[in-house]
Amino acid sequence: MSDWRKDNFPRPRARLPLDAEDWSWHEDRTSSQRESDLNNRTALDREAPRAENYRPGSSRPPGTKSKSGRPVPRMPKSRPETQVRSKGMTLAGTLLILGLTVLAFAGGKLFGRVEEPSTSPPVETVAQTVPAPQLAAAAPELKPVDETRIALPATFERPPIVCLDPGHGGEDRGFARFFENGIPAMEESMLVLEQAWDLEARLQQRGYKVVMTRETDTAVNVDGRDVNGDGRTAAHDAPRSNRNKNLDELQSRINVCNTADADLLVSMHVNGYSTGGPHGFETWFTRERPFGDRNAVFATLAYAHLKEQLAKADYVLPAEDERGVLPDTTADVQMEHSLFRHFIMTGPEVPGVVTASKMPGAIVEALFASNDGDAAVLSTPEGRNAIVTAYEHAIVEYFERYPPEAK
Ligand SMILES: [Zn+2]
Repeated sequence: MSDWRKDNFPRPRARLPLDAEDWSWHEDRTSSQRESDLNNRTALDREAPRAENYRPGSSRPPGTKSKSGRPVPRMPKSRPETQVRSKGMTLAGTLLILGLTVLAFAGGKLFGRVEEPSTSPPVETVAQTVPAPQLAAAAPELKPVDETRIALPATFERPPIVCLDPGHGGEDRGFARFFENGIPAMEESMLVLEQAWDLEARLQQRGYKVVMTRETDTAVNVDGRDVNGDGRTAAHDAPRSNRNKNLDELQSRINVCNTADADLLVSMHVNGYSTGGPHGFETWFTRERPFGDRNAVFATLAYAHLKEQLAKADYVLPAEDERGVLPDTTADVQMEHSLFRHFIMTGPEVPGVVTASKMPGAIVEALFASNDGDAAVLSTPEGRNAIVTAYEHAIVEYFERYPPEAK
């Protein structure tokens, strides 16, 4: 697709949004430059929504309908008479707390997870054997934990292995927006990490194996090693260049996926631009690989499911604002000695410089943190749920089409 040609916002570097510079690389724009650019955008920054302060309805993105948050299930208030309990009742209550605690730990990565309304049967625990009044007295504040496992389809000869790559991390914050006082209001690095944690838990519930290029908000090549083996590290970078640093970092991520023998690589990003205009989502893929068709299929699925899920959260783009599924040859990737014609994460081998990923995959840019409306969606539980659900459904549909075969 080439809907980007219809964009009428200024694009100093042709059509590539800022964020793509981070998983490709450019010599002409350092992160410190970008930071100062962003700090100068005070009008934008002043309105920056802050994830922890945001409440649905308080500053809805323009064009979206106000909608109340999902009801949080609560146990009934305890009644005075339930405070008189037999020893048996107390034991039952203790068992209940133990049971729910174990469940809570088992779901350790469910941090920030927004549960979808579920028609699945209730969790089979000791809780079900305790009469309602005692249940309320024992654990008035505990919420039900959804531990429902989804069986793998019979066509799968083994569990799929998915490599999730939340972009950026550590010093590299990805796209960030700041309050007037310079405090980050929203950082891509953390946004995509939280999405990845949520997605990892959901895929594991489906019996998938998941490997993450990073589990925390750090770089993958945290020690600054020469990972791609070209004899160069960040120490060899010219001023204002992150070339070697980025090459080693991206190679670290590719290596994580390759070492895990993953079936699919999902690089998770949030977009950003130097002005607040651009909005929406896009997916990028590399055609020029042995599995180029599968790359295109996954990029197309990710796009379609983002569109579907965001629409359910009242985020609907006019057709002319759809950014589309984009082959990376249309991106304005700076080339040095014609080495880089593709994004490194999904691109082919560059002898002596890049060892390619061995599996299909795509790069997803889910909304623009630089756009006020998009940023508000990114900040809400509903918005994040839509994005993570889109990833989940795209991955599931991909493997329904290409069931994993025994290795
Ligand atoms: Zn990014």
